[in-house]
Amino acid sequence: MNGELVEFENGILGMVMNLEINNTGIILLSNDFENISEGDQVKLTGKFIEVPVGYGLLGRVVDSLGNPMDKRGKLSKIKFAPIEKQAPNIIEREEVNKSLQTGIKAIDAMVPIGRGQRELIIGDRQTGKTSVCIDTIINQKYQNVICIYVAIGQKMSTVSRIVKILKENNSLDYTCIVVSSASDSAPLQYIAPYTGCTIAEEFMSYNKDVLIIYDDLSKHAVAYRTISLLLRRPPGREAYPGDIFYLHSRLLERSANLLNGGSITALPIVETQTGDISSYIPTNVISITDGQIYLENELFNSGIRPAINPGLSVSRVGGNAQTKFMKKISGPIRTELAQYREIESFSQFSSDLDSDTNAKLKKGRILTEILKQEQYKPMRINNQIVILHAALNNLLNDLELNSIKRFEYEMLDFLNKNRKDLLDSILKEKDVFQELEEVILEIKEKFKLS
Ligand code: ATP
Ligand code: MG
Repeated sequence: MNGELVEFENGILGMVMNLEINNTGIILLSNDFENISEGDQVKLTGKFIEVPVGYGLLGRVVDSLGNPMDKRGKLSKIKFAPIEKQAPNIIEREEVNKSLQTGIKAIDAMVPIGRGQRELIIGDRQTGKTSVCIDTIINQKYQNVICIYVAIGQKMSTVSRIVKILKENNSLDYTCIVVSSASDSAPLQYIAPYTGCTIAEEFMSYNKDVLIIYDDLSKHAVAYRTISLLLRRPPGREAYPGDIFYLHSRLLERSANLLNGGSITALPIVETQTGDISSYIPTNVISITDGQIYLENELFNSGIRPAINPGLSVSRVGGNAQTKFMKKISGPIRTELAQYREIESFSQFSSDLDSDTNAKLKKGRILTEILKQEQYKPMRINNQIVILHAALNNLLNDLELNSIKRFEYEMLDFLNKNRKDLLDSILKEKDVFQELEEVILEIKEKFKLS
């Protein structure tokens, strides 16, 4: 059968990829292919590749075939499921209607993500793509979302750093990490995302909300290109095979928001070369996903981190899934920032600006400052709403730009310690902004004196 698992004499497994009359192309699901020699017998197994799924995988680090890689012994509480499966059909699905909070202000406010959505994270190397996803995993601690992180062709050192960070933030208990490292063979890198997706689907079938991260699909495409060229399939554009689009579409279609509960939200990552989002793999994945978050090198280097470009980042379904208050402020933030960018570029050439322009510049600078966020410090949605509301309603205009961050920190600290009731009301979507503004003004007076 096409896709059938076969077994070599020494127990190494392979998968059938090409079926022709006189020969069969097989990819090897192992790194030690030296042990295979001419004349070996190969047995059919009558099965497709299956990997372990179930609660036993939470907190574990496994390889592409689901074998544990951490030193925590055998997997328990598991069953097996095939790695290739049809995506849920249209009748089983529901539109995306519930938010998946990343805890990153710039994303939750401007490019909101909903449960069941596929949102691409795209950017050059070292622009904070992985960091955005790790922060999102950390933020799911309070939201009852199971997370799967699939590393494709990553350095082992990077993966072990991620595991360490998740452990330090108590986020490993609800996360499963699927690893195919840079030294793994191309077939293992090729199947890793399907393995991760199968694990996610099992949790979805338990009516759980799942977040899956594919880091990254550029390396996945390269692995598949290697396999295809070795199997002598005809190369197409950039030497990728003709079915490279199908490779990613069939994977990402498996994310869904199911009618009877359960969802898979996918955050695929794609790396660009010198900001070129119109090359082959990026355009493919952009057209499959429901929006993209574009991370920009220049922003990153000028200290605006996360380096999200608000102009090029969109979320095509997330708006329906935003909470009431966030939805109300997200529109104005986008317009303010867009106006700010426009004015800023020409204000560099003229010295005397009218007061209206100056006010817009100031507000844009404050918002930019507020949207900066440290790594591994996701912020709860009510805290985000408070600080963004303050900035949008000109409550921070009389502060120095370099003290904005300190004020944000101290204000939220004060509110969390002394006015939990206000923050809770915002979570329950009660309009307490009048009172909140008064409290903020009081805190600001104290802050100015200190
Ligand atoms: P690669 O292309 O190598 O996969 P990447 O795009 O995934 O890189 P990261 O590894 O997430 O980028 O981040 C690159 C560097 O930027 C890291 O050293 C990280 O610590 C730093 N960084 C990322 N986000 C932030 C942030 N919000 N604030 C400060 N530093 C950050
Ligand atoms: Mg990365």
